Amino acid sequence: MEIINRRPRMASLARKLRRENKIIGLVPTMGALHEGHLSLVKEAKQRCDVVIVSIFVNPAQFNEGKDFAKYPRDLTGDAALLTEYQVDYIFAPSTQEIYGEGFSTYVYVENLTETLEGASRPGHFRGVATVVTILFNTIRPDFAFFGQKDAQQVAVIKRLTQDLGFDTEIIVAPIVREESGLAMSSRNAHLSQEERYAAAIIYQGLRQAKIAMREGERNVTKLSALVREKIESEPLARIDYIAVVDNETLEPIDKIAENTVLIAVAVRFGKTRLIDNAIINRKSNN
Ligand code: AMP
Repeated sequence: MEIINRRPRMASLARKLRRENKIIGLVPTMGALHEGHLSLVKEAKQRCDVVIVSIFVNPAQFNEGKDFAKYPRDLTGDAALLTEYQVDYIFAPSTQEIYGEGFSTYVYVENLTETLEGASRPGHFRGVATVVTILFNTIRPDFAFFGQKDAQQVAVIKRLTQDLGFDTEIIVAPIVREESGLAMSSRNAHLSQEERYAAAIIYQGLRQAKIAMREGERNVTKLSALVREKIESEPLARIDYIAVVDNETLEPIDKIAENTVLIAVAVRFGKTRLIDNAIINRKSNN
């Protein structure tokens, strides 16, 4: 495995791989890798000849400087894990390498980016869309792998891939959870033991909605109230939002019809803000 820091080197290597007709898979991450990231790597290994994992804590997608500063970083540990998983390349550019002097070009995806995470974290998706565009443009992967954990991000990336005409197929992998149900996240490292224990309530809340759906509940306000009630039963939880939206357009819906519905939540435990979601549709029975 080789760690690449420079963009021109990454681009020329990807060009060479394409000339050799290799199928290239890209797994974009911010490092501090856990089982969630590794599930994407496994999926990439299955589909691709060459797997590149990018590790870049992208300052443009953090709207709070403090959050960026304290984001967990562990390139040595990450590299050891990725060697074990037989990843071919890590692309780990510096901030300067991506946002060089005079950098002025940002990618803004309309409509999908103002709600949910976009409302709570202004500018977040501009940062995400910009860096993903730079990564796609540098590497031109055949496949890129993203987690359902960041459901809105998936919708934004799919949109930009189509709109900008990237020849990259977006593969979405399911949410990987701890035994307690807590969705794995690099941010879980910031939780105290008590908060970590309490945070399992998020999944229990989402499960309430799934169970109610299975029992025939179709009223979105009621489903949302069930999730809220459950999460609020945990004193350490402070809900930022609970939203029931169309999975593709992210528009709020008031009745479960034929479309696939996303219940997305953001909840704070102490200083840590966690997101999670569940897909529900009429046909799903789990
Ligand atoms: P991050 O390093 O947080 O930017 O995440 C990198 C990728 O891993 C994103 O596509 C995330 O959606 C995905 N990811 C993070 N946590 C999980 C998880 N628990 N299950 C599945 N994918 C995840």
